[in-house]
Formats: sequence, structure tokens, C-alpha cells
Amino acid sequence: MKDFINDREIHNLLESSKEPDPLEIREIMAKSKEKNRLNPEETAKLLQVNDTDLLEEIYQLAGQVKQSVYGNRIVFFAPLYIGNRCINNCLYCAFRRDNEAVERKTLTMDELEEEVLILENKGQKRLILVYGEHPDYNADFICKTIRKAYDTKTEQGEIRRVNINAAPLEVDEYRKLHDTGIGTFQIFQETYHHQTYSLIHPKGDQKSDYQWRLYGLDRAMEAGIDDLGIGALFGLYDWKFEVMGLLYHTIHLEEKFGVGPHTISIPRIEPAINTPFYNNKKYHVSDEDFKKIIAIIRLSVPYTGLILTARESAKIRKEMIPLGVTQIDAGSRIGIGGYKQSEEGYIPEKEQFHLGDIRSLDEVIAEACELGFVPSFCTAGYRCGRTGEHFMSFAKPGLVHKFCMPNAILTFKEYLLDYASPETIKAGEKLIAENLKEMAVKDQARKEMIVEKLALIEEGKRDVFV
Ligand code: SAM
Ligand code: SF4
Repeated sequence: MKDFINDREIHNLLESSKEPDPLEIREIMAKSKEKNRLNPEETAKLLQVNDTDLLEEIYQLAGQVKQSVYGNRIVFFAPLYIGNRCINNCLYCAFRRDNEAVERKTLTMDELEEEVLILENKGQKRLILVYGEHPDYNADFICKTIRKAYDTKTEQGEIRRVNINAAPLEVDEYRKLHDTGIGTFQIFQETYHHQTYSLIHPKGDQKSDYQWRLYGLDRAMEAGIDDLGIGALFGLYDWKFEVMGLLYHTIHLEEKFGVGPHTISIPRIEPAINTPFYNNKKYHVSDEDFKKIIAIIRLSVPYTGLILTARESAKIRKEMIPLGVTQIDAGSRIGIGGYKQSEEGYIPEKEQFHLGDIRSLDEVIAEACELGFVPSFCTAGYRCGRTGEHFMSFAKPGLVHKFCMPNAILTFKEYLLDYASPETIKAGEKLIAENLKEMAVKDQARKEMIVEKLALIEEGKRDVFV
């Protein structure tokens, strides 16, 4: 059976786009500036730009497009690893079943509660729960863990959005998750290149079925989950091919369901315990090329969120965020029970791969303020039904500013009052004041409405949103 990734077509497009005409590149950029999604021919041309001045223009525009679609906010979340049992043998992953160097563990409900409490006490409101692929982690189990995360609360702390990164499911299984109330369901294709996919996912494994995975999010959509996350693990094959794969995946979802993915993730492969595959560096992505990946995805799909995880170092994240990233994690631990363990000191051996940025949430927030980005814990879009198709139609005319910026400010204020260090409070209050001032110039009424809501938060009200 054929699928919507035609390897030959992608290779041909990339080949025929070499040494693109600068004039044509600027025309393509003008289309992005108008916030139109690019087609594969246009994206292939951007991917072949090598001229440093032109690249600089691309980076500048990517930042501008991000700013005009999403505003100067950045959404924060935390990953929470539920279990590392796995029936697959993906060559690049420490959780693969033959890896005896990794201790297998699944959180009990009590342990899960402990992890959630630690995260809530740091100020987290949005989680992504992560699971190996194993019969123990069936839909009923996943639902149980989602409910546990939502039900675990403190006086001020609660999880308001649970996203999932797990193996692809059947439609009726997705339906159970949908009914339990999830945000985004995320599946990374790892590599869109068919042959490479077969080489790194051993034959006979559940994960060796490329199309089962490729159409995994179609089944989620059929089950009513319209908030989808796609991704590629960069470093397995040619990065330009993977960017094209992500674009074709986006177009497929748009054409079939009228709505593209909510987010795109761009993990780069990291060294993982007892996983020599990492040493095969042919396709590893340099920092310079990583910059191009981020900026070109931003220009190709202006309305899709872009996630940059703590796999990357603090330095790289600081450099890449202004190019169009919309979501980051912070204070992350990816061992099973990693948050509790890290209270006693960081223990990297227990993790799936090595994290590059192990700073606390408060430190990363302080840096976001320094860069002029308003940290957001907003989950209102999802709870007001501004998801999937609704989100796209709401996002397209640029209305995100009307809701997302105010909600970023309101949720950030909660964070400052409940969890921030004195230095972050100082930097954060200054940033809020500057943003309100700017808002007043464009829309005084909106500014006043936010000031009123901020006063409610100061009085002790929580979960205030527009
Ligand atoms: N088991 C599920 C699956 O494979 O889809 C979900 C969990 S898996 C732990 C989540 C993601 O981790 C994978 O999709 C893969 O992209 C990423 N990953 C695995 N090994 C990695 C490594 N060495 N470096 C960076 N990311 C890795
Ligand atoms: Fe298992 Fe997922 Fe790791 Fe593959 S990537 S070994 S399926 S946890």
C-alpha cells in the first residue's frame, strides 16, 4: 500500500531546488509573511538556501511570523514518564527491550501522585505523560494515569492539561482517552524515510510497521481527538528530508480532516545509556542546521506550534527560541520517578536519554523574562473548545493575541504569586507592566479588562482566564 510520503518525490524536489534564486526565495518569504502555509516545492527551496545573508533574512522573518501569530509568549510544560517497559527494540532508545542496563519500572498510582505533587509545587500546570510501548500500558491504564494526574491537587496547584506521548492506538482506545479528557496526543514518526525506518525498527516489532504509525494520528482524529502532535527524531536520516516529511504529514491531516497538527516536535537524537547507535553520526544535525530547521518550519507552517525540549542545552534553547518556538519544557526529569529522585540529586543513569537543560522551572522562567517572552501556563484554549478545527479558524485571523496574550499574563501572574523566587518576581512584574503598557497603546479596553482580572488573582482567585 502506498502512503502520503513519497520518498522519491521528496528527493527529486530537494534535488531540483538546489541553488535557488534569491528573488524566488524572497517571494516565498512574502507568502509566509502573510501567514500562508507553504507547499512542498516552496519549502524545498527554502531548505536549499546556503547564502548567509539570505539565511539571516529567513531567521529574522521566522521570529516576526512567530511574534505576529503567537505574540511574545512561550508556553511551559513538563514531561512525566509513567513507565519504561517496552516490547520494541528501537535502536536509538534506552528503553528498548533488549537493553539490560535499564531498570524497568512503572509508577504505582501512589508514586504518580507523588510526582504530580512535586510538579504542582513548582508551578507546573501542563503535563505530557510518556509511556513505553507495552501491553501494561493499554488505554485503560493510560486513562487511569490521566485521571490520577487531574485528581491530584494542592491548595493552589492543579494540572489543567494532560497531553500524551504513547504508542499509536486503535480508534476505540483513543476514544477512551478522549472521553477522559486529554489535550494533545503526540506520536513522532521518528523518520519519514521508509528504508531508514525499517533499518532502525527491527522486523517483527510492533513499531516496525511504518504505516501503522504514520496513520496513528488519523485514527486519533477519527476518535474525536483533534489536537495532534507530530514530530521527527532528527539525526536518523537527512534533516531536509524529515522537514519535508513533517510538511507532507501536515498537508495530509489538513486535507483529510480540515485541520493540521497542533504541534510539531523536533527532537535531536541524544546519547542514551548502553545505546551505541548514537555513535553512528552520519545524519547528526549541527547547531547551524538546527537553526534552519526551526526557522523553515516556522515559515512553512505559520500556525502550528513548535516544541523545543530540554534535550537541548540552555545555550541552544536561548538561541533558538526567538526563531519561532512556541512551547518548551523546564525543570524536566525523564527517569521513572525522576522528580522524586532529583529532590535527592540528579541521577542521569535512570533516564531514557541525556537531558541538555536541567535548570529549574524558575531559572528558565527568569531567562524567558530576560529575553522578553511572557511565560504562559495557559490551558484555556483547550477547555473553551478552542482546539483542532476551532483552534485553526480562531488562530488564522491572528486572534490568538486577543486571548493567548491575556491568558499568558494571567497564568504568569499566578505563577509569580504562588511559586516564583524573589528575582523572578521582580523580572516578571516588570515584564507584565511593559506588556500592559504596550497593549494599552493598541487596545485600552483590553488592557483594563486584564488589570481587573489581575486584581482578582491578587485577591486569591485562581484559574482566571478570558
Ligand atoms: N514509546 C512511545 C513511542 O515510541 O512512540 C512513546 C515514548 S518514546 C520514549 C518518546 C520519544 O522519545 C520517541 O518518539 C523518540 O522520538 C524519542 N527518543 C527515543 N530515544 C531518543 C534519544 N536517544 N534521543 C532523543 N529522543 C529519543
Ligand atoms: Fe520503546 Fe518508544 Fe523507546 Fe521505541 S522509542 S524503544 S517504542 S519507548
